[in-house]
Amino acid sequence: MLDFTTHPLSAPMSAEDRTAAMATLGFGTLFTDHMVTIRYTEGQGWHDAVLGPRQPIPLDPAAAVLHYAQEIFEGLKAYRLPDGSVASFRPEANATRFNESATRLAMPHLPEDLFVESIRKLVAADVDWVPDADKGSLYLRPFMFATEAFLGVRPAKEYIFCVIASPVGGYFKSGKSAVTLWVSHDYVRAVPGGTGAAKCGGNYAASLQPQSVGIEHGCDQVLFLDAVERKWVEELGGMNVMFVFGDGTIITPPLNGSILPGVTRDSLRTVAGEAGYTVKEQPYSFDQWMEDAKSGKLREAFACGTAAVITPIGEVRSARGDFVIGNGDGGEVARTLREALVGIQLGRKPDTHGWMTRL
Ligand code: PMP
Repeated sequence: MLDFTTHPLSAPMSAEDRTAAMATLGFGTLFTDHMVTIRYTEGQGWHDAVLGPRQPIPLDPAAAVLHYAQEIFEGLKAYRLPDGSVASFRPEANATRFNESATRLAMPHLPEDLFVESIRKLVAADVDWVPDADKGSLYLRPFMFATEAFLGVRPAKEYIFCVIASPVGGYFKSGKSAVTLWVSHDYVRAVPGGTGAAKCGGNYAASLQPQSVGIEHGCDQVLFLDAVERKWVEELGGMNVMFVFGDGTIITPPLNGSILPGVTRDSLRTVAGEAGYTVKEQPYSFDQWMEDAKSGKLREAFACGTAAVITPIGEVRSARGDFVIGNGDGGEVARTLREALVGIQLGRKPDTHGWMTRL
C-alpha cells in the first residue's frame, strides 16, 4: 500500500459556516475541504498519494483527457450510523467496477485496497461533512483521467486518480414522490461493443442532448432503448430500471454489455428476494411496457441507483404515446424495498450480507 502525504488545510471552514452551508442539501453543489490525488506514470506505477486541500488541478492544454475523453469515474455514498460512526455501502464493488471501466478505456488498474483506502483517508479528514442520517449522506466521487500531454491517439502514459466528496440530500427536487420519464426513440446512450457498461464521462456527454429533449417535454429523466432494434428498455441516463407485476415478479433488463451494472440493482435483487419477490433479468420491450401499464398488469416501475436510491416512475412520455403507471404516484413494493435497503445503509437494519464498510 502507498503511503499518503497529508497536507491539511491551513484555515478550514468554521463549524458555524459548515452547518449553515449544509442546512439545505441538494445534489453535487457543495464540496468538502479536502481531496485525494494519486499519480500514475507508465513504468513507475502509482505514486505521490496525497490527501490535501480541495483545489484546482493544473492541466496541460494537450492533456489527453481534454481531447479524447480518457476518463472514468465512480459514485458511492458514506452514511452516518446511529452510533455516530461512518460507513460506506459496498465500496469494494465500486472498486471492481472502476477497474472494469479502466480496462474498457485502456487505462491502468488501481489496486482495490488503494481505492478503498483513498475513500477512508478523505472521509476521515472531512468526517464533519457527513450529514446526519435524516438529512442526507456524503456522496463520494472517485475518478481517473489521462494527463499526458500528447495529441496522438493512443492510451496515455500518465494519469491522475482523484477523490472528492459532496454532502447530498435527494437527487430529485424535493416534494416529488414519483418521476416522469421521457423515452428516447431518436437517440441511444450506448451500442453493442461500445462503452455502455463502463462508467466513462463520454456516456454521460452523449446523454445530455436527449436529456434536454426530455426536459422540453416536461420530464425529469430519459429512458434509453437498445441501439439495434430501438425496442428493448435498457436504462436511464444515470440509473437502472425495474418493473413490478401483480404476481410479485420484478423484472429488470439483463446486463447485455450496454447497460451499467449498478451496485444498487445488484443489491436489490438480493433484498427483493428476501422480501418475498422474485427478480428476473429479462428483456422488456417498450410496446409491452405500454400495454402492461394500460392493462394494469404492471403495478409499479422504479429507477434505482446510488444517487436516486429507489425512485418510482409515475408517468412515461414518448413520441409514440404517453402512459401512467399504477396510480402515478409510486407503490408499495418500491416503498418496501427502499426502506429495506436504506435501513441497511443507515445501520438501522442488520447488515446480514457484510455490505457496510466502516470508514
Ligand atoms: N446506470 C447508470 C448509467 C449510472 O450512471 C448509474 C449510477 N452509477 C447506475 C445505472 C446505477 O448504478 P449504482 O447503483 O452503482 O449507482
